[in-house]
Parts: sequence; C-alpha cells; structure tokens
Amino acid sequence: MSRQSRSPWLVVILVLFVLLLLPFAYGVVGDSESLGRFKLTVSLFRETPNTSVSNDFQHPAQFSIVQVIAGDRDVPKAQVKNVARLIKTNASILQTTLGQLPSSKTKVYLYSTQKQYKRVAKSAFPASQVAWVLSETGGFTVASTVYIPLYKYSNNAFIADTLMHELTHVTLNSHSLTPKMPEWMNEGLAWYNGTQAQERIDEEASQQTRVRLFQELHKAQSTGELQSIASESVAVAQDNLPYNVEFQDSLGVSYLIRRYGINRLGLLLRELKHRSFSECFQMIYGKSAQQFQNTFTGLRPVGNAEFQWSYPPSAILH
Ligand SMILES: [Zn+2]
Repeated sequence: MSRQSRSPWLVVILVLFVLLLLPFAYGVVGDSESLGRFKLTVSLFRETPNTSVSNDFQHPAQFSIVQVIAGDRDVPKAQVKNVARLIKTNASILQTTLGQLPSSKTKVYLYSTQKQYKRVAKSAFPASQVAWVLSETGGFTVASTVYIPLYKYSNNAFIADTLMHELTHVTLNSHSLTPKMPEWMNEGLAWYNGTQAQERIDEEASQQTRVRLFQELHKAQSTGELQSIASESVAVAQDNLPYNVEFQDSLGVSYLIRRYGINRLGLLLRELKHRSFSECFQMIYGKSAQQFQNTFTGLRPVGNAEFQWSYPPSAILH
C-alpha cells in the first residue's frame, strides 16, 4: 500500500495509539504523569528453591514487580536506574530470610532534596515528628510504599542497606505479619537484611560499623544501661538508650538463625499467619518468647547472672 492511499482515519488512530503509549514510554505513573517523572519497573523472579531450604510461605510468589520512581524532577535518571539495579541484585536476601518477595504493589520513591522529602514526611507523620523524621531517618515505609531521601546518601552500600531494610518492612506488611510480631523482630529482620546487602558491597565499612555498634552495647553494659531487646517497643527507646536498639534487635534475629537455622525462621513466619507469636515461638524454638526477649541483650551477661541462652561462639556475634 502506498503512502498516498492510506486512509486519514488510520493515521489518526495510529497517532492516538502512540499518544496513549507515551506514558509507558516515559515511565510515568499515577499523579506523577503530568509532571513526567522518570519511573523504572524492576521484575523480580523467585530463585529456584534449594531443596535443603524449605523457608517458604505456603504460596510464595514466583514473580514480583517493584516500581522505582523519581519523587521529584531533580532526581537523575541514572540514580533511578542505580536504585533499580540495587533492588534487583539484592532481592535474593529477602527471599532467603523471609521466604518471600515484596508484593507487586511495591513502589519506591526517591527524593533529591530535603524540601521534597519533607513534603511526603508531612503527609505520613504527625507534625510533631516531622523534624525527627528529616534528621534521623534514612527512609520510611507506609504499607507497600517506600520513601528514600536520596540526597542523604553518598554510596551504594548504604543505599542498598536502606532498600533491603525498607523492603523487608514492605514484605512483612504485605503478608499482614507486622502487627503479629514484636517490634524487636520486625526491626531486627529489617536491620539484618539491610546489613547483608551492605556487606555484599562494602564488607570493610560494614565490619567497622558493627564494631562501633558493639562498643556502644559494651559501654551501656558497663554503665548498667543495657536493656533486653524487649525494650524495643516504641521509637522513643532509640533516643533514650545510649546504643542502637535496631542493631541489638538484629542480634536477636541473628542469634535465632545461627543457633537454630534459617529453616526455623521461615517456619515461624509461615506459622505466624495462623497462630500468635508466643505460640509459634514456643512450638518452633521450644522456649518462651517472653523469656527470650526479656533476657536477650546481644551480650553475655556480666557477673553471675543466670544465663538462659547458649550463645554461638563470641567470634560470630562480635
Ligand atoms: Zn525499620
């Protein structure tokens, strides 16, 4: 068919079709469409399960989609691509620890300035907490949406740490597990997964951070300020205690994995859909959850304090 003989209607339809496709071509989404913000879609595939690891939920998703979106016009496309790549290359950490990928509704918004991050913080937190969120957080999650203040980061190890931390929250939220577990396990799992990602990229920096955080715990122990992981119940604890409580929480998770194996953690998360945390913990670890969280500090107790938990060799924890 020659160009001249083509129906004008066909041309109109083709033009309309191309216009309809434009939003997808530019990767814009939702209310960002009119602003033309850059978006990338990351497809995550469940890795073939190792037959020796049965750390699965009953119906684990084989496939998941995460959208990475420039929250404002000044976020460079290269950074959106970088974050998408970090999610893709580290998602196996989530699968290994949680037995599941984040839900396909997951969105990760990136912000280039404090002004833009403040805008979303104001919509998600009470006015009294906004200043704290701006100064103290490296990102936050609401249901399946993650907000990252990209301007705070100077290297991929820390970005990957935050991404896996927040995507842990997304994954637990999407399976309605967050309200069923104590705060120490929620934040402990997030911190544990974040650290795994950081270690992959910059092992030395990760080890240095770990040494510093352990020093804080030892110092708190010497001054009598070291509490058990049960103290991680409100955000205030983070400010009131002279050490990082989320790091301490992660030692609780790390202890359970090293002492009893990753499979039992997967079993706990699976059973948690049907039973209370106390029931699951007792059934799977043969111990009282209450007793564990009231006595576990991440360090061996000093003096002659009764020692309930057989810790792995100190070289592993320290
Ligand atoms: Zn967290």
